[in-house]
Amino acid sequence: MKGTGVSPGISIGKAFIINKFKASVSGIKLKTEESKIVEIRNFDNAVHASVSEIETMKVSKGTDLRQADIDILETQIEFLNDPQIKSDVTDKINDEDATAWDAVIKVIEGAVKMFREMDDEYMSARAADIQDVGNRILRHLDFNESPTTGDLCENSIIIADDIAPSDTISLDISKVTGFATRLGGKTSHTAIIAKGKGIPAVVACGDELLNIRNDDIIILDGTTGEVIAKPDQGQIDEYLHKQKLFREKRLLLESIKDLPSKTTDGHMVKVYANISAPDDLEQVYENGGEGIGLLRTEMLFMGRDSFPSEEEQFQFYRLVAIKSKNLPVIIRTIDIGGDKQLNYFGIPVENNPFLGYRAIRICLDRKDIFMPQLRAILRASAFGTLKIMFPMICNVDEVIQAKECVRQAKNDLTDSGIKFDSDIELGIMIEIPSAALTADILAREVDFFSIGTNDLCQYTMAVDRMNDSVSMLYNHFNPGVLRLIQKVIEEAHKQGKQVGMCGEMASDPLATLLLLGMGLDEFSMSPASIPVIKNIIINHTLTEAGDILGRVMDMDNPDSITSYLQEVLK
Ligand code: PEP
Ligand code: MG
Repeated sequence: MKGTGVSPGISIGKAFIINKFKASVSGIKLKTEESKIVEIRNFDNAVHASVSEIETMKVSKGTDLRQADIDILETQIEFLNDPQIKSDVTDKINDEDATAWDAVIKVIEGAVKMFREMDDEYMSARAADIQDVGNRILRHLDFNESPTTGDLCENSIIIADDIAPSDTISLDISKVTGFATRLGGKTSHTAIIAKGKGIPAVVACGDELLNIRNDDIIILDGTTGEVIAKPDQGQIDEYLHKQKLFREKRLLLESIKDLPSKTTDGHMVKVYANISAPDDLEQVYENGGEGIGLLRTEMLFMGRDSFPSEEEQFQFYRLVAIKSKNLPVIIRTIDIGGDKQLNYFGIPVENNPFLGYRAIRICLDRKDIFMPQLRAILRASAFGTLKIMFPMICNVDEVIQAKECVRQAKNDLTDSGIKFDSDIELGIMIEIPSAALTADILAREVDFFSIGTNDLCQYTMAVDRMNDSVSMLYNHFNPGVLRLIQKVIEEAHKQGKQVGMCGEMASDPLATLLLLGMGLDEFSMSPASIPVIKNIIINHTLTEAGDILGRVMDMDNPDSITSYLQEVLK
């Protein structure tokens, strides 16, 4: 079977199937008003029982729970206490004569469908939380026992439709060596939890997974997405060998991850992380990150129904500042629009959202959104080493206006006697070709650049980064993109300004030596990629990187550049 590998590593173990609770509508109609009152009471009791079950789980697991687990459980309690769910269920009982059982199934189905269809991948993955809550209420309505996971043996590979958030919390995770699910995506709970625990996982395996039986031997490759049921001895030997190599590599990376990012001829660079929330900092430390090259603030604005207040934002940035223990943190101001929409903001439908009303364009137009964010970041700057970065800059006027807003925010805080870092560094993202081509002008206005190759590629080659049918053109080794990156670094360095990169290219091992040769000062990426990139940097010289750059810049097309770089890294 082939699914999507979401947590790397190889696992060989025995299948343990988590039977999902499959509820179907009974179709029974209530005949009397008394029976409706009883059904509403049964529903209320089932909700109470569900809440106290979760509270008990929280207490009994105590300090074993990570912050992410606690968040899952608290979200579920919030859903359970949501007055909308209660009134929808009550309406169905009263107006449609439905039993509590049928009403819950229908209400939850509607909510799950609504979340699943949301464009935002994160929000659509929340459908699993709601389904989980629905199943829990139904179990209590039916007076059924919770599905038992007590029979889990050592070295179990969990097979399921999808892993519900609370499944992973109630499982004895020390016995689980892999996850394979029929459904799910890259941001599903299975993916998040497996990655967090370092357990190999494959999601979206499809219906073939249903053929697996309990105790079948399973091989699972979380890197390639392969799942083999009932393998022969040859396959087992092959994967045992791959597993050994993977573990050796992981140990090697583990041993070098905290070394400084210095080439063998003494050139220092920085390897930073991209994060979206304070909790992500744990992973940054685990992987030897030396700072935060990009804090995407959009997550703080998503999954809610109005803008967060200045105070809420301040608490969030302050927590990041405190948890970062004085490592530098670049906070990017809000980058909504394009692929990141907020339901409650209601940007009118645009023909070309990626070329439309987004990021700094919105902020400069809507100071009521921008100023509270700037004030909140500045207030948090008293608690750590924070820097501010503006996304989607296309000309120098935008930088001048954004800086003016920072000046005003500083004045507001000074007038109110609130402390902040008055020397806070200001930088911009270079992700639009006009910005790259005018890097000399922009560099005069800011303290640093960070190159956003995700957008720079789409705008340079006119290739929508979300459109699969043109994805073969989307390649950061396109010589046009490489020339822009080289120019940005050269121009910034002429004025003594540092250049980072926080687009996905920074985590591509094939690109590391090329970027090093160009003089990139800081590589920023998802925490898990840090040891891999560090390992390349510390095992090469700057001279080698310069030679590679010379060869690549003479090449005409991305394919020959890729083959050459693959050869170099072998
Ligand atoms: C980029 O464009 O490279 C970038 C880092 O920003 P985002 O992916 O958030 O648009
Ligand atoms: Mg971008």
